[in-house]
Amino acid sequence: MLSFIPNHEVQAHAAAFNGDKIALALSLLPEAAKLAVVPVSQFHVGAIAIDSEGNFYFGANQECATSSMGQTVHAEQSAVSHAWQRGATRITDIVVNYTPCGHCRQFLNELPDAGSLKIHLPHSRDNTLASYLPDSFSPQDLNIPDRLLTPVQHAIRQPENLDAAQQAAFAAAQTCHAPYSHAYAGIALVVDDAIYTGRYAENAAYNPTLPPLQVAVNLLRMSGHDTGEVTRAVLCCTRHGGHEAMTRALWNEIGTGELEIVWLD
Ligand SMILES: [Zn+2]
Repeated sequence: MLSFIPNHEVQAHAAAFNGDKIALALSLLPEAAKLAVVPVSQFHVGAIAIDSEGNFYFGANQECATSSMGQTVHAEQSAVSHAWQRGATRITDIVVNYTPCGHCRQFLNELPDAGSLKIHLPHSRDNTLASYLPDSFSPQDLNIPDRLLTPVQHAIRQPENLDAAQQAAFAAAQTCHAPYSHAYAGIALVVDDAIYTGRYAENAAYNPTLPPLQVAVNLLRMSGHDTGEVTRAVLCCTRHGGHEAMTRALWNEIGTGELEIVWLD
């Protein structure tokens, strides 16, 4: 399943587009949109985030059939969190098959390069995020220097005697983006011998925040798996922030088995 294209392959494929990697990305949007999970809307949105190294990370919108609409992941959030979980630290371009909604404009404004971020649509290229979000509310308005995707290591005490999955969930919490609430959270989903993690991605405007389970399930799906394959789920989080309730609500619908909790305080 195509969901990640490293820069050297991007360069090779872009030759067919006269070296224009944005044209290549636009041509790949139908492939990204196939990754959508849309039991409610049947509306397929595909996005590709391009990082500063030139790597392509696919994303698609993901809905749940019975949980709150608020648990939905938008395609741009999917692509950005996919890039984050694969180690990207700067996003330069977002390529998407529909105009970004207001929720996503605010979500993207949390990125370190929000001021220079370009958005490309099938009918309109090289749009700045600022042109879609004039006079925006940003982390700066709250005097917060931290930005989503910028590497961080929180000084939180590690609970004792953690096994591998619990340790992975803790490491995710330790590197999550929660500069406003300090409600750190990470999750680990075990599939066979592999562990897929998700980190909490908070937003200055709060609501476009992406919970850790969504980030992990997105990575799992972008890696060719589905939630039915998960044999173990471990959430590591603070008691404040509402992570347990939010995660359980979605896990009860899409997961199997018990959700384990490792408390941070
Ligand atoms: Zn959106």
